Amino acid sequence: MKRRDFFKSAFAMGAGLVGASALRPLYASQDLEEFRGPKVPDIDAVKVTEHCYMIPAMGPHPTPDNFGMFSNPGFVVTDAGVVVVDTGSSVQIGEMVLRQIKKVTDKPVVKLINTHFHGDHWLGNHAFVEANPDVEIYAHQLCIDNLKSGQDKFWFDFMQSNTNNKITGTVITLPNKTFAGGEEFEVGGVKFRIHHFGQMHTVSDLAVEVVTDKLVYTGDMVMRRVANMEDGSYRGTIDGLSKMAEMDIKHFVPMHGKADDVSLINEGIEFMETIYTSVEELYDEGLSDFEMKPIIMDKPFMKDVASKWPGYDSALGKFIVVAIKEVEKAMFS
Ligand SMILES: [Zn+2]
Repeated sequence: MKRRDFFKSAFAMGAGLVGASALRPLYASQDLEEFRGPKVPDIDAVKVTEHCYMIPAMGPHPTPDNFGMFSNPGFVVTDAGVVVVDTGSSVQIGEMVLRQIKKVTDKPVVKLINTHFHGDHWLGNHAFVEANPDVEIYAHQLCIDNLKSGQDKFWFDFMQSNTNNKITGTVITLPNKTFAGGEEFEVGGVKFRIHHFGQMHTVSDLAVEVVTDKLVYTGDMVMRRVANMEDGSYRGTIDGLSKMAEMDIKHFVPMHGKADDVSLINEGIEFMETIYTSVEELYDEGLSDFEMKPIIMDKPFMKDVASKWPGYDSALGKFIVVAIKEVEKAMFS
């Protein structure tokens, strides 16, 4: 498919052009350049294992200064092409990721996997389709369903407002293939396995295991960061992470923060358990969320470990509110 046709079909499918870019047709390339936000500076990829790389975020939250580059896109280099796990928050970030891949290999990107529907994991898809119109874009069906029912534009607008419109020019480009979890496949001699553990960080999370390298890209199912639990489940996360901890894996690569061994997973479990079990107890005692907060902050794991994570002060209260809702739902269902 030619670039011109791609943009036409993006219109036809209602995938949509939003924000400032909707003012004019985008399939003429001059117009496209006029309406583009600035280029994102190069960040060298970090090699984690023989085939697996990640590009570290510029900060824990999206800002105009970091161009919305607040997650770690990953990529896997094989003899038959590159598999990319999460594409960043904009076409500009996607292009920057492509430039880093070119420093490592001449092979084309053949597959993208979007770990879930939050915008920092898929808005960069646009750049990869421009580079290779035949690239396959995989996500869980529930990721696609959420995007189609409004999360696409929500996340485009969220990134625009948090970056002072630096993602302008990004065309919403949805996944076109699905993984349900359980798939195993090989690309250029590298073996992959896809996991879906039910609702964890969202209902749509995929973990990408690179079996050959004993590595898992964990999406946002675990991170040493307190950010967004609104779409998540505590009990689902504890269950899913417990399964991950049992896997024969040496490297876990979160999409926020640094890669680590199973200690990353175990800290994730302890964080979720500390909040959820405390909220269960305190809810029984009739405490409100703001009464629970100082008691939870006083738990040893929170004082010694979690309080050092980005977002702890600003987002812990929201995490407690989500936990209360989940406790109530479990009681009345
Ligand atoms: Zn997320």
